[in-house]
Amino acid sequence: MKAVAVFPHTREVKFIEQEAPHITEPDHVKVRVLEVGICGTDKEICSFEYGTPPEGSDYLVIGHEALGEVIEVGPAVNKVKVGDLVVPTVRRPCSHPECNPCRAGYADFCTTGDYTERGIKGVQGFMTEEVVDHERYLHVVPPELRDVAVLTEPLTIAEKAGNQVRHILDRLPWLAQYLQEEAMHHKTTAVVLGAGPVGLLGAMKLMVTGWETFVYALAPVPNPSSDIVESIGGTYYSAGRVPEEMQEALFGHIYLVYEATGVSSLAFETLEHLGPNSIFVMTGVPSLKAPIEVNADLLMRNIVLKNQLVFGTVNASAEDFDAAIKDIGLFRQRWPHALQAMITSHVAPEEAPDLLLGKSSGIKSVITFDTSARTTNKE
Ligand code: BGC
Repeated sequence: MKAVAVFPHTREVKFIEQEAPHITEPDHVKVRVLEVGICGTDKEICSFEYGTPPEGSDYLVIGHEALGEVIEVGPAVNKVKVGDLVVPTVRRPCSHPECNPCRAGYADFCTTGDYTERGIKGVQGFMTEEVVDHERYLHVVPPELRDVAVLTEPLTIAEKAGNQVRHILDRLPWLAQYLQEEAMHHKTTAVVLGAGPVGLLGAMKLMVTGWETFVYALAPVPNPSSDIVESIGGTYYSAGRVPEEMQEALFGHIYLVYEATGVSSLAFETLEHLGPNSIFVMTGVPSLKAPIEVNADLLMRNIVLKNQLVFGTVNASAEDFDAAIKDIGLFRQRWPHALQAMITSHVAPEEAPDLLLGKSSGIKSVITFDTSARTTNKE
């Protein structure tokens, strides 16, 4: 069975052959992998800055943004059936009895750090022909979303963040009424930093939730991401630094910044401009570089005097996956071409190592194990 694997000790990324998996537990499901998206985390793993093979293995099969088709089910499986399209979750719980989040099914909030992640930390991933997993980690996708459902996993970042933001906004008792009035006059504003897949999906989620959405990214207009932002009714800014007009907008009018670049200098520079009572969500996971200077007194002063809240979020719970699948359907309805425009190439697994080691181009590259779907390479 074909797979794409990283060998950290020999610093290699290779296309390998490995044994096909078998159902060994009653609630196991065997899935034929159709597509696997590539993200920044995969590239970091392939540059040996991140990622851990399973214990006893000298390689890690990568891939965590997957879509597959069920081909076999164990005797205790009752929610999925052969032929269903499914998206698997990534995180698996730690085994410590005292980790309440993991015991409650929220491994994304694990407190021990001993969670595992398929294709990232301690468990083999999905960039291979077949995988076996427990039924509880699989989410059924309607067949009409087949061509875009590989975007479910990156969308769960925005789903979880949105969920957290909803809870946080409850701290402002007048806001429910204010938001209603505001919606009638001018809309409440959010800024997304970054126009890669996480930023674009975050912008879509914000738009369907009713926020007026600005996306700020480096690439000058027009580019494929700015076209998508415009097509969903958002506004795209580009500049080397946080532009004047965005600074103004940030001050006092912006309630939310959704950071999706992993560039810490940009995040902290933008944080300086955050307005009163606002929320700053960080989703990027930067590789560890030399420390940078930040305006710490100003930031702390603002955070206190302006009741600001900065939080981080990593995907995601079962609820977030279900919400993402629903929203993929909603986005498709509202903007028929926007999701597909994000998938800029379908690539054969044999070509994955070059893609993972090369410079990124396009928005989202997808490795496809389904030869019939390997038709578009728009890059
Ligand atoms: C994945 C998450 C994972 C995180 C940290 C992201 O790219 O989508 O599932 O938790 O990396 O490893």
